[in-house]
Amino acid sequence: MTDYEAVIGLEVHSQLLTASKMFCSCVSGYQDAEPNTTVCEVCLGMPGVLPVINRRAVELVIATGLALGCSIGAYTKFDRKNYPYPDLMKGYQISQFDQPVASNGHLDVTTDGVETTVRINRVHLEEDTARLLHRNGSGDAYTLLDANRAGVPLMEIVTEPDIGSPAEARAYLTSLHTILRFIGVSAANMEEGNFRCDANVSIRPVGDQELGAKVEVKNMNSFRSVYGALEFEILRQTALARDGVRIVQETRGWIDDKEITLSQRSKEYASDYRYFPEPDLPPLAIDRALVDRIRAELPELPQAKKTRFMEEFRLSDYAAGLLTASKDTANFYEKLMSFSTFTGKDKYLRAESNSNWTITELSRLENAPGEPAVEGGVDPAHLAELLDMIASGVLSTRMAKTVFEEMYATGEAPGRIAEKGELEQISDADSITPAIEEAIDKNPGPVEEYLGGKDAVIKFLVGQVMKITRGQANPQLVTTLLEDKLKAMR
Ligand code: ADP
Ligand code: ZN
Ligand code: MG
Repeated sequence: MTDYEAVIGLEVHSQLLTASKMFCSCVSGYQDAEPNTTVCEVCLGMPGVLPVINRRAVELVIATGLALGCSIGAYTKFDRKNYPYPDLMKGYQISQFDQPVASNGHLDVTTDGVETTVRINRVHLEEDTARLLHRNGSGDAYTLLDANRAGVPLMEIVTEPDIGSPAEARAYLTSLHTILRFIGVSAANMEEGNFRCDANVSIRPVGDQELGAKVEVKNMNSFRSVYGALEFEILRQTALARDGVRIVQETRGWIDDKEITLSQRSKEYASDYRYFPEPDLPPLAIDRALVDRIRAELPELPQAKKTRFMEEFRLSDYAAGLLTASKDTANFYEKLMSFSTFTGKDKYLRAESNSNWTITELSRLENAPGEPAVEGGVDPAHLAELLDMIASGVLSTRMAKTVFEEMYATGEAPGRIAEKGELEQISDADSITPAIEEAIDKNPGPVEEYLGGKDAVIKFLVGQVMKITRGQANPQLVTTLLEDKLKAMR
């Protein structure tokens, strides 16, 4: 039986974080606006109006291109992509055909410990379409049109067909998503539709160089559904090929609740769009100085940050990966480390506990694994203080977790919370002695057993003292004091 391998290329559309739309001055943020209110004659496609290029949008695509190792052309131009659809106000979309802002980049991704390079074909600029809202009212189905999204700046990031599996596709998307958020070019929220992925997939006999006919899958709105759609398509195409059925180039849609793809239409070709240079916009010269400035202003990228965290703080690959999965988390961690004055071995120990608290405790409260949003939550200065209190024995780890929850809820400093809640660990003998005497008085049986030689009973008695002090006594100190007292009784 012939073995087949998958070939995948991804096209990501990501909305750019500009204040205004791509070719007019309407506000770009449409999420909270009433339908059809953030519109004007330009984005509604009225005749006789002229588009004006949004400078910021071009800059954000340049930044993205640079972050993906692309070359930025000295000239770029816009083209009309013609197709009739009710969400396309003008009957054409202004996009870029043969001179995109950025091209020939790459993104290195790690899948199950293996690093591969996904080449980026291009990053180009275009405008988003209006939104169609399909409704099924009592009786007839109907469709509503909201043009607020029409004209919102969109960039398209296209890979070469370099991806070999659904897992690799997911690794690429995750990595790209993190980069876009790190450099602040897009909100990149898949659920909200401002980061959308079309997946192209074909199969070919292992060893073949030639590409098979590709199927383009649309309508995935989560990383999980991209993964599912690719898995489904690879199985479907492989089964067909084994039955001797020729796979045809087509566009299919992912049906999320059924976890299948269905044919939507036979694939259109570039020529179907009758691309031609946008006559209302001049070609754009991209100033080298501008590119250099944007390059200089790029923040440290997630991969570089991860490597640095591993070297500077001796964190594991896993921990450094989680800490750099979002910019907020990475910033929080660095802030936290900035309060540590330790050196040498102590520095790395604190780096590790800082990492544990950031990953485990913080993300538990944020309830978003791997992606704790930290603003408004805990002040890193407060967490640093809390860790100092653990280190100096003022708080037990268990108490610290309670204090941490309170810090998270109220924003207060740990010292105040501990004081208010009488949570501080009792570490002086005079304060613990009465509780020890009480525990001995109330448990003559176990005391008898201990005196008779059953050393293990000490654990039970320590537990009783902890109970009497409501968990506040320092357990090490309790054990020592209790042993002294009991030995004196032997
Ligand atoms: P189209 O002209 O249909 O837009 P492109 O050549 O521009 O096709 O490619 C679109 C996307 O499809 C790219 O991400 C590319 O890597 C991918 N792709 C192209 N050919 C194949 C193939 N045979 N199998 C899988 N993906 C492919
Ligand atoms: Zn407008
Ligand atoms: Mg194409």
